[in-house]
Amino acid sequence: MTEALLAQAYLALGGNVGNSRAILDRAVTLLCDGKDVRLTARSSEYLTPPWGFKYQSPFINLCIAVETSLSPRELLDHAQGVELQLGRDRAHEKRWGPRTADIDIIAYGELEVTELGLTLPHPRLFERAFVLLPLAEIAPDRVIAGRKVRDALADVDTAGIERLLPFPGM
Ligand code: ATP
Ligand code: CA
Ligand code: CA
Repeated sequence: MTEALLAQAYLALGGNVGNSRAILDRAVTLLCDGKDVRLTARSSEYLTPPWGFKYQSPFINLCIAVETSLSPRELLDHAQGVELQLGRDRAHEKRWGPRTADIDIIAYGELEVTELGLTLPHPRLFERAFVLLPLAEIAPDRVIAGRKVRDALADVDTAGIERLLPFPGM
């Protein structure tokens, strides 16, 4: 990986089917192979009320920062490959419903992208305390779409979200 070609990206992970903490931990390991994608920061995990479709189990959510030599589209393909490996079944799921692992790209460098199947920064970021809270832990001063993460967090309702203690050894 040539230093000059690296981009910094933020990803949000979530899940509420199976042992979500273990599944998302595996997701981080699979995503960050240390070659094309290198982990630079990882937030705590949060227990969060479901968003969009209320009648389902709470989610586990976290955010990571990575350095990557992948293009945004390659990073999305890679993330979707990891979702698949962890048992995500898009064909049988409901929008914003239960899933084993969801991996969204929140921001990729300063890029703004509006393409079929890829929007950057993530278009619903500023509505989501379950993303802003973990993101503010690792990148409070990062400006995304003209807003500082910590300021965006101050404008959302974080009620019901609980930061989880790390597992011993993590
Ligand atoms: P939301 O995007 O509101 O969080 P979701 O994560 O439940 O919803 P998915 O079913 O996981 O939605 O993804 C639907 C499509 O969103 C994906 O196939 C992907 O092509 C597209 N997409 C667009 N922008 C992004 C992004 N920034 N990160 C991840 N997926 C994206
Ligand atoms: Ca999502
Ligand atoms: Ca997604």
